Amino acid sequence: MQVFIYNTGAIPIDQSKLYSKKTREKYPETAGKTNIPNLVFLVVGEDGKTLIDAGFSIRNPMGDGLRGKALAYFYKATPYKEIWPQLMAQRISSLDYLLITHPHGDHLAGVETRDIPVSQICMGKEDLSPSLANWLNYPLRMIKGLNITPGFPKTKEIQPLPLPGHTPGHTGFIAGNIAFVGDALESIVSLDDPNPPKKFAEDIKAKAKSIIKLRELAKQGVLLLSAHDPSLAPTQGQDLLTSPQYSALLSRQEKVLAQLS
Ligand SMILES: [Zn+2]
Repeated sequence: MQVFIYNTGAIPIDQSKLYSKKTREKYPETAGKTNIPNLVFLVVGEDGKTLIDAGFSIRNPMGDGLRGKALAYFYKATPYKEIWPQLMAQRISSLDYLLITHPHGDHLAGVETRDIPVSQICMGKEDLSPSLANWLNYPLRMIKGLNITPGFPKTKEIQPLPLPGHTPGHTGFIAGNIAFVGDALESIVSLDDPNPPKKFAEDIKAKAKSIIKLRELAKQGVLLLSAHDPSLAPTQGQDLLTSPQYSALLSRQEKVLAQLS
């Protein structure tokens, strides 16, 4: 299995919206303003080529959801490169699966503007059901046009990992010793912050439970990759698993685990 990281944009954010005061005092890198990346992951392995999330779209920056539009306006998100030209630059001209963690514009908007064939696009059932929150995130009429299958296929290597809270159907994916956790964690430091500000969770209690679940996985040595962790860098065509970034990320995760509150 190989894992590649791409960045589709940046969101300038005041980290007091993401982390509790206690966490900001304990981890200096979580204090103040920062630019968080908007990451998309490609897994190449037994299931063929699987993309996890579709990122921003330059042609429709945060999708058509009201919340997406508000995010783009208030946070001045700066999509600088869609995922599609980045994949094509790596000679990837088709995908077997596109798995969406949740229907927020920064994860979903790229689906609309895909330039390469994708055999199957999937998202958690709960996030495809009609609800006010889902409508605010991304209108169902838009989602219908995207041809998304509710739920996830039986695959050999990549398994869905339900991580509700950020949205009801928010789903991560686990493959080998890697878990792609979407927005269940703001960064690896969030493992130490099961009571983050309410801002980015539809159900804060469910989000806390998901964080506890991720702690257990991390303790088993599974490396957690979240969609907006500023310490994750694009791999520029190099496999993450054989790059120096892999061991750096793992030791950072172990450091956070060693000092959990
Ligand atoms: Zn996000």
